[in-house]
Amino acid sequence: MKLYDKKENLKEFLSTLKKSGKKIGLVPTMGALHEGHISLVQQALIENDAVVVSIFVNPTQFNNPEDLEKYPRTLEADLEMLKTVTGNVSVYAPQANDVYDDNVASATFDFDGLEHQMEGAFRPGHFDGVGTVVKKLFEIVMPNKAYFGEKDFQQLQIIKKMVEKEAMPLAIVGCPILREANGLAMSSRNKRLSDDERSKSAFIFEVLNEMKSKFGKDAISSILLEAKKAFNNNDMFELEYVTIANEATLEDVEEVNSSSKYRAFVAVYVNNVRLIDNLALN
Ligand code: AMP
Repeated sequence: MKLYDKKENLKEFLSTLKKSGKKIGLVPTMGALHEGHISLVQQALIENDAVVVSIFVNPTQFNNPEDLEKYPRTLEADLEMLKTVTGNVSVYAPQANDVYDDNVASATFDFDGLEHQMEGAFRPGHFDGVGTVVKKLFEIVMPNKAYFGEKDFQQLQIIKKMVEKEAMPLAIVGCPILREANGLAMSSRNKRLSDDERSKSAFIFEVLNEMKSKFGKDAISSILLEAKKAFNNNDMFELEYVTIANEATLEDVEEVNSSSKYRAFVAVYVNNVRLIDNLALN
């Protein structure tokens, strides 16, 4: 497994592969890797000849300096984990100046309104930061396909929108959410939870499933009210939002339409650690 911290060296390596017609997959990550990330790498290996995993905690997508500072950074362990994967995997783990050419700032994007919902509403500037870094990674790696988890469903939709609007020459592949045995969505931030918090955070998935079981039967307003009550009655959680939105527009659902797809989305704090999750409802 090759490790690059300079984009020029990575590009040189990739240009040799591309000249011989090899297909390249890209898996952008912020490290602190877990099985969810590995599932993306494995999907990328199935569909490409070589895979680049980027490991970069992107400063421009953090609206909260404490979240950025406390974000787990475990490069040695990440590399060990990736070594267990069979296939042509390279890692790009740069410093910010290599990605940003010494100008660590976000560009501004128009994602047709997708950026104003949920995460966008609660994390100002977040998706400009995401769009900026992902675009830069696409320009560096020039992959045939790039892989994103449904764990960050809004991000997945936003990246698809960026690729479509800017006619970027690659395909975006969405991958299912990997969960702990108790149902908690795997996340790098789970590393900041105590064993007890991690175990009790299975409640998030329980509430999402409860919402799913009521979808199509109860009124949306009543499903949301019950879900809010469930979090508000549980001392461990500080609820930021819980909503049901149309998968394509990410707008809150007002009236359910049988030809559209819907998902329940949630963001909660557990002891200052921000967790998000979502579940397809139909
Ligand atoms: P992150 O390192 O958190 O930025 O995540 C990197 C990529 O892995 C993103 O596309 C995430 O959506 C995806 N990812 C994170 N957690 C999971 C999970 N539990 N299951 C599937 N994909 C995930």
